Amino acid sequence: METGSTFQQLGKQQPLEPPGQQPLGCGKCSSTGSDHGKDLRKAAGCSGGSGIGKGPVPLVCSTVCGNPYAGLVSHLRASWLSGKTRPLEYRMTQLEALGRFLDEKKQEILEATDLDMGKPSFEAYFTEVLLCKNELNVTLNNLCHWMKDEHVDKNLVTQLDSAFIRKDPYGVVLIIAPWNYPIHLFLVPLIGAIAAGNCVIIKPSEISKNTERLVSEMLSCYLDNDCFAVVTGGVQETTRLLENKFDYIFFTGSPSVGRIVMTAAAKHLTPVTLELGGKNPCYVSDTCDVTNVARRVLQPGDAGEAHARPARGHRGVFRPQPQESPDFGRIVGDKQFQRVRKLLCSGRVAIGGQTDEAERYIAPTILADVQPSDPAMQEEIFGPILPIVVVANMDEAIDFINARPRPLAIYAFSCDSKVVNQVLERTSSGGFCGNDTLMHVTLTSLPFGGIGNSGLGKYHGKFTFDTFSHHRGCLHRNMGLEALNAPRYPPYTQQKLGLLTATFEVKRRGTCTLL
Ligand code: NAD
Repeated sequence: METGSTFQQLGKQQPLEPPGQQPLGCGKCSSTGSDHGKDLRKAAGCSGGSGIGKGPVPLVCSTVCGNPYAGLVSHLRASWLSGKTRPLEYRMTQLEALGRFLDEKKQEILEATDLDMGKPSFEAYFTEVLLCKNELNVTLNNLCHWMKDEHVDKNLVTQLDSAFIRKDPYGVVLIIAPWNYPIHLFLVPLIGAIAAGNCVIIKPSEISKNTERLVSEMLSCYLDNDCFAVVTGGVQETTRLLENKFDYIFFTGSPSVGRIVMTAAAKHLTPVTLELGGKNPCYVSDTCDVTNVARRVLQPGDAGEAHARPARGHRGVFRPQPQESPDFGRIVGDKQFQRVRKLLCSGRVAIGGQTDEAERYIAPTILADVQPSDPAMQEEIFGPILPIVVVANMDEAIDFINARPRPLAIYAFSCDSKVVNQVLERTSSGGFCGNDTLMHVTLTSLPFGGIGNSGLGKYHGKFTFDTFSHHRGCLHRNMGLEALNAPRYPPYTQQKLGLLTATFEVKRRGTCTLL
């Protein structure tokens, strides 16, 4: 299975092409249709997975409409229009298959994320497997309830009618993911997209290449290949993919690429969720247990920036020599390594600062005496560096935060809950966590998403299902009881206007009402 400039589309049937198009073959090998499919599955080590989509596998390398992915998108659209993704049973089957993917390929996932960025298997299990399983189980446990029509209040005229919100799937949706949680960040949206009844194209990050390969080779063994596909590649491939019309795009990545994705989506008026990056400030008041703060801030490896005094806990977290520690990862690629290393020139290295280019190792580093104009404060760090900006008091920290783009998360540490609440009250961010970092992400009951520069939209738990569902407002009227409708028909009279007002008007609570 290739990565890079190719893509795979796996399905049971021949792809459905617009009239006049040639049946599509693969330019990469001599086999066509089912033979090629068998080769691919064998090479991928497919054990059969869900039992769905096990048949002949056409590989489409078409240039339909001049776009290499048009055939794939139209195939998925035809599957969606056939209605097969709508029944609850179908959605549950696909979600159960995703659960099996996580169970059966757990070891491969841990190995791939280790190869990509030295992610400790403990962390990889927690973020890439356990949290995904949680999302899956919450969805499986509640889907039947979430899918139900929501009945809503009615006015006097519609009392005998049915007014409800139908949770409709959007259609064919695209999920684009980054490299840092390379399974979690496509799988959690995918769970909601499947749960909501959509067909999905997944575009994992090309930077976490071992995970990308695993996903592109293995997912097709579990999911229905007529409805779910993986497209691999980088900027060039994603640019061509985005030329196609999708019904929803869910993007996680940097704000600059988020703009590109939103611009491409705007051409088709496609709605988007943008889960973006940026800097996440962490205010530490002087009333805290500094060791606990240090552990909780340093554990994620990249907590943005802290506004307080230097912490002392890092040696306890990563042992005296973090380079030897099995619990400390590496930078994902050379380009990212060079970028993060340049940021070390900001302020003064208080702890850490060592680098090893051959291993793409950057020690967990605390930078002190950092100025707002220093490089580490000018861009997102996305590496194990924590710049500390000293502020005189909480008000100054809040002013500092509010003078900058709205973050994905704000953290505030204080033994005084009034201080934590003040930071919450007087700032704006996608999410908030008091006296810890990142832990809010573990609750499937909380919406997760950015605001302003850190993104648009929210997901996790039911919020993911809602994100991928069009909430369709429906009124199903009774054909009879025409007398109730008579006031709205011409000829218009003053008396009819009075009746119309009495039957349609919404009164403020506490005022006199006819109802
Ligand atoms: P990125 O924006 O460079 O890439 C994300 C995805 O977009 C990848 O699949 C990539 O192939 C694709 N892409 C890159 N350039 C493109 C282009 N010009 N046109 C079309 N597609 C393109 O992000 P990254 O480096 O993979 O990840 C790091 C960024 O993601 C950081 O900014 C980080 O804060 C952000 N992030 C946000 C969240 C969140 O939940 N909000 C989570 C993780 C990472």
